[in-house]
Amino acid sequence: MKYKEFELIGSSFKCDKNCPYCTAKITKWPVVDNKFELLEEKLKYLRDNNINFRYFIFCGNGEPSLLEFNDFKTIVEATRNVNIFDEKRLQSSGNIFYEDKKLDLIKNDFIIEITRVSLDSKEDMKILGYKRDYINTDNFKKAKIRLNYVLMKNKSFNEYFDEIKRYIEKYPNIVTVSLKTLNLNTRKDEIDNPYSQWIIENALTKDDTDKIIEFMNSNANFVTSDEKFFDRFEWNYNGVPITFYAKKLDYGYSNIVYYGGELVDYHLNKINIAKEI
Ligand code: SF4
Repeated sequence: MKYKEFELIGSSFKCDKNCPYCTAKITKWPVVDNKFELLEEKLKYLRDNNINFRYFIFCGNGEPSLLEFNDFKTIVEATRNVNIFDEKRLQSSGNIFYEDKKLDLIKNDFIIEITRVSLDSKEDMKILGYKRDYINTDNFKKAKIRLNYVLMKNKSFNEYFDEIKRYIEKYPNIVTVSLKTLNLNTRKDEIDNPYSQWIIENALTKDDTDKIIEFMNSNANFVTSDEKFFDRFEWNYNGVPITFYAKKLDYGYSNIVYYGGELVDYHLNKINIAKEI
C-alpha cells in the first residue's frame, strides 16, 4: 500500500529562525528521546508489511540540520538502507547551507525544502526572524530545492504569481514550488496562542483553498489533481511544477510520523499497521 508521507520529526525544539507561525510552537508536542537508532528497524517493519511512501520528509520540531552529525547520518543511512520512498526531502530553516558536511551527505538524494514569505531576503529575514541570507550562498546553488511559498495577505494573487516566476528565473535549482497555506492548529482546533493569531491576520489558510485553485487554473498550465488520496493539485510554469495541497482531507491523512521511536499519527496516537492495511 502506498502512503503519502513518512515524516521523521525530531524533538530538539532548537532553531535559528523565529517564524511567527511556528508549527512546533503551536502544536506543543512533548519533548521526547528521539531514538533515531530505531528508525531503520521501523522502516524494515513497514517494508515487510508492503508499505511504501511517495515522500520521506526529514523535518522537526526544531531545525533538523542542527542535529549532531552522527544522528543526522543515522537517519540518512536508514533511508538509504531501507529505501521505500519515491522522493526524499529535508525541510530546513536555511541552516543546512552553512553545514558543509551534512549538505554534502544528502545533496544528491534529498531535495532541500525551504519556506519563504518574500523573494526580498531582507524582508524574509525580518518577518521570519533569521540573520543569514542563505538563498544567496554558493552552497544553496549545490542543492535541488523545493520552495514552500507562503501565501501572505499583503499580496494579490497576481503578485504571488509574478514573484514565483522571478524565483524560478533567478534560482534555476528550484525544482518544485509548493503554494503554502498555514495551519492554525494542527493538533487541536483552537486558537489559543499568538502564532495562530498571526496566521489569521497575515496569511491565507485552508479557507482560501477554492480561490487559490481558481486563480491558478486560469493563470498557469494545469497538469493534474489528485483530491482523493494526495489532496493535491499541480500546475506548471517553465517546466517547474507548482503544487498545492488543498487540505480538504483530514490533516495528516495518509501520512505516518516517526516521533520518539514510535510510528504515530498527528495526534500522537500509535499507528496500528494491521488496521491501516
Ligand atoms: S523554521 Fe520551523 S522550527 Fe524554525 S521557527 Fe520556523 S517553523 Fe519553527
